[in-house]
Amino acid sequence: MKKHNKITKKYISEVCKTCVTGYCCRHGVDVDLDHAKKISGLKLKLKKPWFYNLFKDKDMVTGWAVSTVVRDGRCVFQKKNYLCMIYKNRPIHCKDFPIEEGRIHRYYNYLCEKPKHIKQKIKKHYR
Ligand code: SF4
Ligand code: SF4
Repeated sequence: MKKHNKITKKYISEVCKTCVTGYCCRHGVDVDLDHAKKISGLKLKLKKPWFYNLFKDKDMVTGWAVSTVVRDGRCVFQKKNYLCMIYKNRPIHCKDFPIEEGRIHRYYNYLCEKPKHIKQKIKKHYR
């Protein structure tokens, strides 16, 4: 496991390439309201609703956010192979994760840095 001060974006993208859990998507994500409207316009073979829980969020461009629905224990947009079906249009938090406000997210070790045999166990469990 790398120490946090040695983690770079390049290193993270390598970690993500070998990820077998897609754990970061299990709880869904908060999305700027305008971005959610844009996503809602996509033609996906996916039962709606995709968003819920409108709330004020000063960190969002519009000042408002919604959350993605969590269905079957994962973000509604996460496919069974753990990939994101709206990858090109994914919310900003998803693009940045596991970096948040310029720092490594506090759950980084828990979600992303697991030895391979543990990852395989998690994968089996969630199949
Ligand atoms: S859980 Fe971590 S390693 Fe896996 S895809 Fe998400 S950010 Fe990448
Ligand atoms: S929108 Fe995509 S990347 Fe973001 S949490 Fe959902 S499945 Fe994961």
